[in-house]
Amino acid sequence: MKNYRRSKLGRVRLHTGVKIDHALLPVFGRLIVPRWLRRIRSLPALPIRPRELAGPWQPFDQKVPEELKTQPGILRYPEREQAAFEEIQLQDFFKLHRETMAWMAPRYWRSYLPVARRLLVARRAAHHTPRQDPPAPPPAADGAELAQRLKMKALEFGLSAVGVAPYDPKYTFEQHQGKVAGDRMVVCVLEQPHEPTQLAPSCKTENVALTTYAELLEKMLKLTAWLQSLGYKARCEDYEGESIYIHYGVQAGLGQLGLNGQLLTPQAGSRCRLAGITTNAPLAFDGPVDYGIEGVCDRCQICVRRCPAGAIPANRKEYRGVVKPKLNTKRCLPLVALADGCAVCMKVCPVQAFGLKAVIGEFERSGKILGKDTDELEGYDWPLDGRHYAPGDRPRIPAEVSLPPDWQFDPQRRQPLPAATEGATK
Ligand code: SF4
Ligand code: SF4
Repeated sequence: MKNYRRSKLGRVRLHTGVKIDHALLPVFGRLIVPRWLRRIRSLPALPIRPRELAGPWQPFDQKVPEELKTQPGILRYPEREQAAFEEIQLQDFFKLHRETMAWMAPRYWRSYLPVARRLLVARRAAHHTPRQDPPAPPPAADGAELAQRLKMKALEFGLSAVGVAPYDPKYTFEQHQGKVAGDRMVVCVLEQPHEPTQLAPSCKTENVALTTYAELLEKMLKLTAWLQSLGYKARCEDYEGESIYIHYGVQAGLGQLGLNGQLLTPQAGSRCRLAGITTNAPLAFDGPVDYGIEGVCDRCQICVRRCPAGAIPANRKEYRGVVKPKLNTKRCLPLVALADGCAVCMKVCPVQAFGLKAVIGEFERSGKILGKDTDELEGYDWPLDGRHYAPGDRPRIPAEVSLPPDWQFDPQRRQPLPAATEGATK
């Protein structure tokens, strides 16, 4: 197991980077507003250095031990899910908490600006896909064969994996209802590179995450165009603020929900980015799978212990008819904004670091969680003070970070504020 712990000089550089971020915020943070982002989007494209991608994922073929099994996907109560939807629909976080986003987005400037143009161009193209609806009615097709062709095409375009789930309006935000192209959601996943993720929290890791989102959208646009070329309707959704893709990832059998609130795929844990394409193509559905991930999480709990904000619960609770971990966003978000995106919960996850196959293999051999209690997995360098935190030790979060003076986030809010306060990143 490689230890990604930085040298002392490396930690000084990490800490200095954050100080520079904060000192130059009044200059560069100002660019993260719609007026400037439109200008950045219209800049000429710079040559992109091609990245070596991890390649398509192999199907997960490990037998899951009985003691790790729970249920396929996630435990849900469909009647209570429906009742919650009818009572109040899910809201687009970016609209519901405009003032929070206006506070957070500029603090991302060092991670965001280098990839801003590429990301903005891809997101704009995704927003405009409905205009490219095909003129001809779609041909009849065999669903299983079509889904197979779609998956081959997705891999050819460089996506790590795709799955097909029924479209469900309960998991589209109220602000985006009615935009879909059909009754299916093609969930698309692109793996984020391994090494920079192990350096989280850092600006480098955040930049790689955003670059992966840009690449994901570029590949999804190609897949959308391919579906349209066959005569079907297809609409590429933006990864931000339209639907809850974690729900679709679980329903399409691409992974299960981890205690850190993220989709844990067997191949790369949550070290991947996802979004979706809605379509009327009669693709055969994939279904939820029990990979034993909830069983692993119950025995692991590393992210619960290592989260610097203490924002991850040790247990799942029913929320809107679904049993899941409910993260304390009020504690988490200031760290995400001020500590280079944080992402400690992704970095310390053994499924992310080693893959589920290795984790299950170790569990069968020794009954233990691979990497638990080791510095290689659990240790991280903390940008806000430049110190390394080994297992058993966590950073102390000062009050001005955990509750910044100008921070207005209200997790209880259910209705968006008026548009005048918008500071969106779109
Ligand atoms: S991003 Fe950081 S603060 Fe938020 S849940 Fe993960 S580890 Fe905790
Ligand atoms: S760190 Fe452990 S408990 Fe947390 S999501 Fe990963 S496997 Fe689950």
